[in-house]
Amino acid sequence: MRTVYKLIMPGGLVVLGAFLCLQGTPSPEVVPPLARFVPAAIFAIGAVLALRFQDSQMVLALILLALADLGLAHFGRSERLATELGRDVLTGMALLLPLNFAVLCVTPNRGILTASTVSRFVLILCQPLLMAWACLKWPGAIASVLDLQWAPVAIPGSGLVTQPGWVAFAGTFALLPAQHLFPRSAMVGGLLWALFAVLLALNADLNGIEPIVYLTAAGVLLIVSQVESSYLLVFRDDLTELPSRRALNQALMRLGKHYTIAMVDIDHFKKFNDTYGHQIGDQLLRMVGSKLAVLGGGGTAFRYGGEEFTLLFPGKRPEQVMTHIEGVLRTIRNTPFTIRGAQPSPAPGKPAAPANPRAQQKVGVTVSIGVAAARTPAEVVGDADRALYRAKETGRNRIVSLVAGSGRPAPERPARA
Ligand code: GH3
Ligand code: MG
Ligand code: MG
Repeated sequence: MRTVYKLIMPGGLVVLGAFLCLQGTPSPEVVPPLARFVPAAIFAIGAVLALRFQDSQMVLALILLALADLGLAHFGRSERLATELGRDVLTGMALLLPLNFAVLCVTPNRGILTASTVSRFVLILCQPLLMAWACLKWPGAIASVLDLQWAPVAIPGSGLVTQPGWVAFAGTFALLPAQHLFPRSAMVGGLLWALFAVLLALNADLNGIEPIVYLTAAGVLLIVSQVESSYLLVFRDDLTELPSRRALNQALMRLGKHYTIAMVDIDHFKKFNDTYGHQIGDQLLRMVGSKLAVLGGGGTAFRYGGEEFTLLFPGKRPEQVMTHIEGVLRTIRNTPFTIRGAQPSPAPGKPAAPANPRAQQKVGVTVSIGVAAARTPAEVVGDADRALYRAKETGRNRIVSLVAGSGRPAPERPARA
C-alpha cells in the first residue's frame, strides 16, 4: 500500500488534476494567445527553484519540457504538421524525449555548474540541431523510418508517437517501480510523471488547449517534486529513511492526553563502530531502522540522533503497546547482522590478515528500550496519594515527592517545625 502511494503521489495526482480539468471545461475554439506562455512561465519558476536547489535533474528536465513546448507550439498546427518537416520533427521528438528522460532518471544529481551537467546540457541542445540538419538534408526520412511497421501491432494515440517511440516511452516508464535502484532522489518519480504528461500532450489535439494544459502540469509536477524533496530533506533521516528528530518534535506537539513513548538505544554501538568501521555501523543503523519502521500497534519510529530512536504511540497506554515494543526488541535480537568482507581480528602479536571480500561474519545485535507514558490527572492524584501515605509511614511532618526531574532523587525531607 505504501509503495503504491509512493508511486502515485504526488505526480499521479497532478496529471489526474490536469486530465479532469480538461474533461470539465469545453476546449475553446481559439486558444487565447496568452495561454501559450503559461507553460514557459511555469518552467521559468521551476528553473529558479532548481537553480536555488542546485538540482541538475530538474534544470535539464525543464529544458527538455521547454523544447517539447516549442516543438508542439510551432510544428503542431495542422498546416505545419501536414508537411514533411513537421512530421519529421514531432515523430523524432516523440522518440528522443523518453530516451532523454530515462538518462536523466539514472544519472545522479551533480549540481549545476559541473562538467557532467554542462556536458549533458550540450548533449541535449545538440539533438534539435542534429535533427534540423537531418531534416534539411533528407526531408521526410526521419518520419518514414519511424513510421515503418516494425511490429505487426496497431499503435495507439494520435500517431505522433511511433512504434519505436512507444517502446522508448514504455521502457522509461518501466523505471518507475524500480526507482529505488537509482541514485536516491525524490525527483525520479516527478520526472516520470512529467514524461507521462508529455505523452498525453503528444496524443492530444495539437491545435487545442490540451498540450498547453499537460505541459503546464508537467512543469507544476517538477515544482511539486522539488518541494517534496525539500520536505523529505527536513523531515526524513537520510541514513535510515525514518522520520527525523524534527518530525518527532512536530508529532510531540500534536499529542493528546494519552500516549506512550519508548527510547531505543543500540547496545555497545561505539565498540561495533570501532571494530567494523563507521560504514558497517551505518548499515547496522539502517537494519535496526528497518525493523523499527514496521513496529505496528499504531506506533511510529523516529531517528532521535546517533544510535538512538524514539517510538511514539499516540493515544495508546503502555499495556496496549508493550507486545509491539517487546516484538521489535526480540526481532532485532534474533536477526543476525551479516558483515560482508569483514576483516578478522588479528591474533595478539600477529599482523592483520587482508580483508576477504567474500568472507561473511554474523554478529548479534541488541537494543535497550526505556518506556514512559503520559499520565492522566486522576493517575497523578493517585501518585500524590501514595506519596502522602509514604510520608505518614516514614514518620509524618515531612514531604515525600514522587516527581523526578529536578535531577536529584525523590526527596523525603522532614519539614521544619
Ligand atoms: P551503550 O551500550 O551504553 O549504549 O554504549 P554505546 O557504545 O552504544 O553508546 P555511546 O554513546 O558510547 O556511543 C555511541 C556511538 O554511536 C558513538 C558514535 O560514534 C556512534 N554514532 C553516532 N551516530 C552515528 C552514525 O550516524 N553512524 C555511525 N556509524 N555511528 C554513529
Ligand atoms: Mg546512546
Ligand atoms: Mg548505545
